[in-house]
Amino acid sequence: MTDRFTADVCIMGAGPVGGSLACRLAAAGVETVVVDRAALPPMEHPAFDGRAYAISAGSRRLLDEAGLWDRLPEPAQPIQEIRVSDGRVGRPASRLHLHFDSAELDAGPFGWMVEARGLRIALNAHMRALPSLRVLAPAEASVERRPDGVTVRIAGGPVVDCRVIIAAEGRNSPLREQAGIPVTRLPYGQTGMVCAISHQLPHHGIALEHFLPAGPFALLPMAPSADALAGGAPNVSAIVWTERRAMADRIMALDNARFEREIARRLGDHLGRIQVVGRRWSYPLSAMLAHRYVDTRLALAGDAAHGIHPIAGQGLNLGFRDAIVLADLLTEAVAAEQDPGDPALLTRYQRARRPDNMLMLGMTDGLDRLFSSDFPPLRLARDMGIAAVHRLGPLKRLFMRQAMGV
Ligand SMILES: Cc1cc2nc3c(=O)[nH]c(=O)nc-3n(C[C@H](O)[C@H](O)[C@H](O)COP(=O)(O)OP(=O)(O)OC[C@H]3O[C@@H](n4cnc5c(N)ncnc54)[C@H](O)[C@@H]3O)c2cc1C
Repeated sequence: MTDRFTADVCIMGAGPVGGSLACRLAAAGVETVVVDRAALPPMEHPAFDGRAYAISAGSRRLLDEAGLWDRLPEPAQPIQEIRVSDGRVGRPASRLHLHFDSAELDAGPFGWMVEARGLRIALNAHMRALPSLRVLAPAEASVERRPDGVTVRIAGGPVVDCRVIIAAEGRNSPLREQAGIPVTRLPYGQTGMVCAISHQLPHHGIALEHFLPAGPFALLPMAPSADALAGGAPNVSAIVWTERRAMADRIMALDNARFEREIARRLGDHLGRIQVVGRRWSYPLSAMLAHRYVDTRLALAGDAAHGIHPIAGQGLNLGFRDAIVLADLLTEAVAAEQDPGDPALLTRYQRARRPDNMLMLGMTDGLDRLFSSDFPPLRLARDMGIAAVHRLGPLKRLFMRQAMGV
């Protein structure tokens, strides 16, 4: 006989957004089911995902409340300073640069660097430990949404009756497509290359972003893993390097020695000798925004709802902010014995999140277009912008608060 059970909320996708939302809901006693079509343990393998996330203070609070922060396998690296400059390859730092120091705000670090893999390890361990949370993965699901409820049928497995379903399946969300929600896409024709490097000199918690004509080149300080320490490489950073697609293909094909030389040309020599650690990854870059975040008993969250350029390292932070608002609304409704799939509640969620996500999409898109150009009037305009931000204390503090998510 088919196993059939009920839950308050079902979440499709056990990625960072779906998984964190599931943990936060279950920690508050909301009966939650999370379904992922992929098996979860292989996602913990170092070869699965090379990204490292810059986690803002607001996102850290979500991870704390969801019980995930303490489960991270490696300590997170605080970002104490951010240096932004407008450069050229071989001359990374121009005369004009911005320097943000978290000490100026007295509100803790700008954020923390966490490996994508470390977050997956914490999620997978914690999701299995929460009594109010049931994980179904790997699982193929078919979903039937009606005005009075949602039924999720797992192929060869149980049937779940719930009151609302959250699409957290990433950019190609099948639930979003089934609901016929249109999407606007902005292709960038750029590739984000990601790798880790070890370097001779310490990074002192300083993140760097060089705006180069082909796209931004970022260095993000990381805490060394136990393996890196044992191997005598205590100074480690992550590189997120954007190039136009054809150039990125050529760079990705270089051997390690030439790849390291290209990094050094963009980075400068302030960290001493550098060495690439482990493999390199590349991600085609595009932005996208769903026209609606909600439908009958459905809400979109994270990359299922929006995707932005990684220029400011904010994509996941936006998804976490979706999860915070959803967790609050759904927990309140369940505690008050109200319907968590009520259209008015879902509309409140959309109203709270869509404008914020659109603003960040516009800002990151504008930044990329402004800085990924060597056209002299644009160079002048952005250098004037950098100089203005540098001089105007309140504007600078506004940028800092935005980066911190406070
Ligand atoms: C180069 C690069 C660097 C980045 N750096 C940063 C950064 O520093 N800071 C930051 O905040 N963000 C960053 N981002 C953005 C960040 O990676 C994404 O915003 C984040 O991964 C989105 O998480 P998610 O949980 O919404 O989706 P995903 O991470 O895509 O997870 C989706 C989950 O759903 C599952 N799934 C897929 N289809 C189905 C289905 N049909 N049914 C069930 N489950 C399904 C998948 O298996 C997966 O587990 C970066 C992105 C790139 C490309």
